[in-house]
Amino acid sequence: MPRYFALVPAAGLGARMGLALPKQYLPLAGRPLIHHALATLCAARRIARVFIVLSEQDKVWDQQWRSADHAAFDDKLVALRCGGATRADSVLNGLQRMVESAVADDWVLVHDAARPCLSQAQLDALIDEVGDDAVGGILAVPVADTLKRAGADGRIDATVPREQLWQAQTPQLFRYGLLREALEKSRGVTDEAGAIEALGHRPKLVASDACNLKVTYPSDLALAERILLNRTLLKGTN
Ligand code: C5P
Repeated sequence: MPRYFALVPAAGLGARMGLALPKQYLPLAGRPLIHHALATLCAARRIARVFIVLSEQDKVWDQQWRSADHAAFDDKLVALRCGGATRADSVLNGLQRMVESAVADDWVLVHDAARPCLSQAQLDALIDEVGDDAVGGILAVPVADTLKRAGADGRIDATVPREQLWQAQTPQLFRYGLLREALEKSRGVTDEAGAIEALGHRPKLVASDACNLKVTYPSDLALAERILLNRTLLKGTN
């Protein structure tokens, strides 16, 4: 039976936050931001191991590791110090380092450290709906807003039809062998599905929701915190 592994690229600087501390270490609902996604992935029964890709220059991880409560994921979590210049490089370096653990048919869930609000229900939906699909799939949300293409002067050049447009999220779930081949052959992709598409495949879209947001700008932090705290409150009342 193929196994499931998670791979979390966390070697970015989060420059758009405009802060010295990389965004994965910013405090969020009482923990470093990165803790939340790792805890969710490690708590998933079907995931055998969770690999996190760190920058070689990252000094914060060790401090966070010592000070944070890692009881929730100690036995599943493996830190790899092989971050690259881009997200795709970090993912590919991580996949190459996983070679001793994974075989071609195993599944890999690639998930951004910067998406702390991933829920077990979203994770289960992705794994269940992809099933034994020949290609794999991703969590995504149908575009709800009207889309405008901007000119360089900040005015609207055109309205872009939103029918059949989806916003890609993570996790993105593909077989280890296919994903590694795709990323080794691709250049300039911003997600795993892009690399798989470049090989001529059509990954499956699995409906998610806006709660699985990516923390990119400072205002995203407050929203992510509300989602996480609300979830904790709901758990307490059930
Ligand atoms: O910057 P952005 O939000 O698109 O990054 C998405 C994820 O990719 C983050 O978890 C970030 O740490 C990671 N990343 C990486 N290596 C890079 C750039 C980004 O692992 N060189």
